[in-house]
Amino acid sequence: QYILGIETSCDETAVAIVKNGTEIISNVVASQIESHKRFGGVVPEIASRHHVEQMTIVLEEAFTKAKMTIDDIDAVAVTEGPGLVGALLIGVNTAKALAFANSKPLIGVHHIAGHIYANQLEKEFSFPLLALVVSGGHTELILMKDHGSFEIIGETRDDAAGEAYDKVARTLQLPYPGGPFIDKLAQEGKETIDFPRAWLEQDSYDFSFSGLKSAVINKLHNAEQRNEVLEKEDIAASFQASVIDVLVTKTLKAAIAYDVKQVIVAGGVAANKGLRKELEAKFVASPIELLIPPLYLCTDNAAMIAAAGTVAYNQGHRAAWDLNANPSLSLEKYSLRTKYEN
Ligand code: ATP
Ligand code: MG
Ligand code: FE
Repeated sequence: QYILGIETSCDETAVAIVKNGTEIISNVVASQIESHKRFGGVVPEIASRHHVEQMTIVLEEAFTKAKMTIDDIDAVAVTEGPGLVGALLIGVNTAKALAFANSKPLIGVHHIAGHIYANQLEKEFSFPLLALVVSGGHTELILMKDHGSFEIIGETRDDAAGEAYDKVARTLQLPYPGGPFIDKLAQEGKETIDFPRAWLEQDSYDFSFSGLKSAVINKLHNAEQRNEVLEKEDIAASFQASVIDVLVTKTLKAAIAYDVKQVIVAGGVAANKGLRKELEAKFVASPIELLIPPLYLCTDNAAMIAAAGTVAYNQGHRAAWDLNANPSLSLEKYSLRTKYEN
């Protein structure tokens, strides 16, 4: 069983071919980071244009690397949302054209389901499992009792973790996207500043990062006015310590409360060295298995979309030919749909 995956929700044009939902045959990612860097963030119109320019090239490369043609493919899976509508549309329309012209089934995939299923390319899931999703647009704790079933038990009330990283990086005048730069600086610095931790209500698995972001900005402003010198490394280390403390503590608490077999980490911020280290330390002595994908599967790619698409395909889900990009597709609605529809 070979599933073709297509991903264009943000600033990566990606195509992959995955065998049986677990084995990567080819995985091509064209990143646009260079084009967005000078704007300090992703510019939607530029993203759409790049996807149009790159799509055919990336698609061809994915087939060439796999030494396969569309005839060898069982179904075409594509990210239908959430993401930038103009960017999503390029992938959705490519997938529709390819599937329709070659009489292949079409599968719509939720981008975050994709991030979660990136882990299945490494290791088989055992349920119930808890997924910590930490990306540019999402920070969520998701309980999965079975394949294709997603229950959000906690989420951010304001900024996503990756967003907080990128905003703090910007105030430190680091390039976009700033997450990896802060991560690197943090390794070299010390936690000299006691930034706040947003624990929220005692029984809540929700997150909040906007207060922390403001605290960092205020600290920098105050230091500037007093001509006080703050080391960027120490700010990065202190900021990162606050983020990791909350993420890891809540994940551990939820994992125990829901008695899960596995904890999986997903999304771009899962690439964070400090977070990986802290999670590994916390789970090493626990019977709960911790899965963190390799770096190239943490950030946006299409192998994860093909992996999640395989699950939807095997559950009998098929998208109609009028499939549309859905920039605000909800994970729980997607979850119900893969279970009960078709
Ligand atoms: P979403 O998946 O929510 O739609 P997205 O696709 O833009 O958002 P990803 O591509 O999953 O997000 O992740 C990008 C984010 O990950 C950026 O915010 C980036 O700064 C962050 N990131 C990447 N590497 C690291 C790192 N080592 N440490 C912290 N953050 C990181
Ligand atoms: Mg991205
Ligand atoms: Fe993503």
